[in-house]
Amino acid sequence: MAVTRTFSIIKPDATRRNLTGKVTAMLEEAGLRVVASRRIRMTKEQAEGFYAVHKERPFFNDLVAFMTSGPVVVQVLEGEDAVALNRRVMGATNPENAEPGTIRRELAESIEANSVHGSDSAENAAIEIAFFFKPEDIVG
Ligand code: ATP
Ligand code: MG
Repeated sequence: MAVTRTFSIIKPDATRRNLTGKVTAMLEEAGLRVVASRRIRMTKEQAEGFYAVHKERPFFNDLVAFMTSGPVVVQVLEGEDAVALNRRVMGATNPENAEPGTIRRELAESIEANSVHGSDSAENAAIEIAFFFKPEDIVG
């Protein structure tokens, strides 16, 4: 497997509980490297654009409200098969279904306030990285 990149967000429930370092340590311990990182407050327009694939879902408005409710940390992660590796360390969307030791099982509050986002494919990783980062802001 080649070294590839994925996109991660440390969500508002985690920044609120001062877990930025803890989440990042779990990513690093899993073998991922943070090659870009920025703490931002997402605008409503950014959150709606980022989650546009979910616009017809019943939880869309709540999700946008949650993602804009506090600071988030957007990150580019690099590692062997980074998309799959990050999804493994994140755990299932619903923390009740996530494996012990995963970020969501250990840290998440609920299916919505689930502490982290991770891209679900290489194609989406490239789109999501470009949504928040210029190429020169990523230093591998
Ligand atoms: P993410 O895209 O954030 O990495 P995911 O790919 O595991 O998570 P998606 O199905 O893409 O999950 O859902 C995006 C986000 O929407 C979830 O992470 C969660 O915050 C929220 N969400 C998903 N399903 C629900 C639900 N049934 N109720 C409330 N919020 C939900
Ligand atoms: Mg998703």
